[in-house]
Amino acid sequence: MNLDEKSKILYLKSEFFDLMVSHDNFQHHSKVYKKYSKLVCDVLGSRAVTLYGKNGNGESLESLTYNRFSEEEEQYEVTSNVSIEKLNIEFDRESKYRIVHNLHNTFLYLWYYEESDIHIVEFDFTGAVDKLEQYSESFLINIHKETFELRDLLVKVARTVEQGKQYLQLSKITSKLHSSFNIENVFYEIISSLKTVYPNYEYLLLLTNQSVEPSHIEVKQFSPMDKDANPYAIQAYSENINTYETNSDSIYMYAPVHGQQGVYGVLQICNKNINRFTVSEQEFFTLLASKAGIALENAKLYQQVEDSAKRIQFVNEVGQNLNQNLHSLELVNYLVFKFQNRFECEEFAIVILQEHNQFKVLDGSTSYFNSEIANSLIGQIVEDIKLHDGTLLKVNATQEECYEQYPFNSIVAVKIETTGLKGVAIMLHRNPFKFKYDDRTLVQNVMEPTKLALRNTMLQEKLEQLVATDHLTDLFSRAYLEEQICKSMQEDSQGTLILLDIDDFKKINDTYGHQIGDNVLVQVANIIKDVVRSTDIAARWGGEELAAYLPKIGIDTGKKVASRIIEEVEKISSPRVTTSCGVSAWGNGTYNTSSIDKLFKSADDALYIAKNTGKNKVTIAN
Ligand code: GH3
Ligand code: MG
Ligand code: MG
Repeated sequence: MNLDEKSKILYLKSEFFDLMVSHDNFQHHSKVYKKYSKLVCDVLGSRAVTLYGKNGNGESLESLTYNRFSEEEEQYEVTSNVSIEKLNIEFDRESKYRIVHNLHNTFLYLWYYEESDIHIVEFDFTGAVDKLEQYSESFLINIHKETFELRDLLVKVARTVEQGKQYLQLSKITSKLHSSFNIENVFYEIISSLKTVYPNYEYLLLLTNQSVEPSHIEVKQFSPMDKDANPYAIQAYSENINTYETNSDSIYMYAPVHGQQGVYGVLQICNKNINRFTVSEQEFFTLLASKAGIALENAKLYQQVEDSAKRIQFVNEVGQNLNQNLHSLELVNYLVFKFQNRFECEEFAIVILQEHNQFKVLDGSTSYFNSEIANSLIGQIVEDIKLHDGTLLKVNATQEECYEQYPFNSIVAVKIETTGLKGVAIMLHRNPFKFKYDDRTLVQNVMEPTKLALRNTMLQEKLEQLVATDHLTDLFSRAYLEEQICKSMQEDSQGTLILLDIDDFKKINDTYGHQIGDNVLVQVANIIKDVVRSTDIAARWGGEELAAYLPKIGIDTGKKVASRIIEEVEKISSPRVTTSCGVSAWGNGTYNTSSIDKLFKSADDALYIAKNTGKNKVTIAN
């Protein structure tokens, strides 16, 4: 190298150094290439410089040309898909440069291999061949060295800067993801971070086991068992490795979304530029997908914990409220309210199983269960539940022959069994898949405290009933009758009392014996129960004297009821007996008496008159 060449090299070195230290240049490669082209063109005295670079898949080249004498204001020209064959030069790996003379042109080529990729600098010395011929071999080799050292450094620095940016972004995402316990937010963060770092690609999160359809459009349900599922995605998912799919117009990368406990799906990245993904891009996507997996796992775990906390809370709340000595009606009403709230069920019932396959729907259950058809549905459920270990969950019941006639697709039924109580809790919904496995378990859990409360309540009600009723006739007791008359006197505007005594009952006992006498008494009691309404109180007053109190009923209707009773007794009883009635009333009617004692006394007086005026008749108190 002569002095001039040495100073040229020195000059280029210092200029290249300037290029390197200008921070701005790392962000815009083409800017650096343009500056380089102008610089070397000026220093070497060539007409134009063209930089050829591999554009990813190694098959075609992209070129950037700087022309010193171009008349265009913009002296740079970028061409893509330049065929390397067009240059018609053999770029062997050993040589570094070659001078090529064509018919009209002279070119100097410098090239450099980087694995299988080749980078070429073409100097056009057409019209300046003399200059080119002056340069010594070592000068050209030095130019080669400086050029590709500059390139190497630029690429390295750019890669480091890019990686720095990626990791910064990654650490930001990671901390955001770890603080998010909402699965939807996790989806959102992943997709938006990907778009921030590599905006030119398209992303799709393919996730398995998504119980809820995500609202985010870039998140999709992925079923690896589906015959339509993408085989590359399946491979990435099942082998927990990255896979790549090359199509005619795009390249896809699939990175497994895995946490510590399993793989949850695949992150699909679509690249429509047919460029291969760079190593750092691949690293970034892989890392992000695994961060997403861990975040998803955390969010899922958190949601599970939250869910079970809510379930425990629900069971506790119901259990506590049931411990308040509720009547069975109130208890069932409360359960209906809670179940409708929690499970959004349309129908709910507590069914008590009795002997001989009989059952009784408890009052308070929703209205569907009063219908005729509900009885056959209950029968079906009770049968089914026996086969299923005491619980039943149907999500598409109408598909089954034995359930197709009912309008409910979702059914949960749970056996209630404790000493002295057998039953079933049933909840229904028309829609399919309304109830889940977890719901069935929750109903089962809630039924634990419920069945005890229910048993206690029902026992207590039975006890109350026992005290309130007469053992022989199953009529209400006198005490209960008096209690109800008192209540009616406070709440109603009128009421009628019928006192009834069997005529010549002594004779029945004497003739047929006490047992037949008892039987006759039961017959008369049943006739009274049949004749009066369910809201009336039929009671045993004492001995063979019976009574009926008709709340809200005046004396005229009361008399008719009494007449019906004695007619029926005379007609039906066997051995045949007759009865006599005394009827009294309080309130609006003509026969007014305001106290319970007076009411009884009047009826008793009237009965006495009936007995003394021929029996088998009704007498009204005066
Ligand atoms: P009367 O027409 O005047 O009412 O004549 P009676 O024979 O019915 O006379 P009374 O009412 O005074 O007699 C009631 C009889 O009913 C006395 C008693 O032996 C009988 N008796 C009372 N309670 C029962 C009972 O629970 N079972 C049976 N078998 N008899 C009863
Ligand atoms: Mg009597
Ligand atoms: Mg009698």
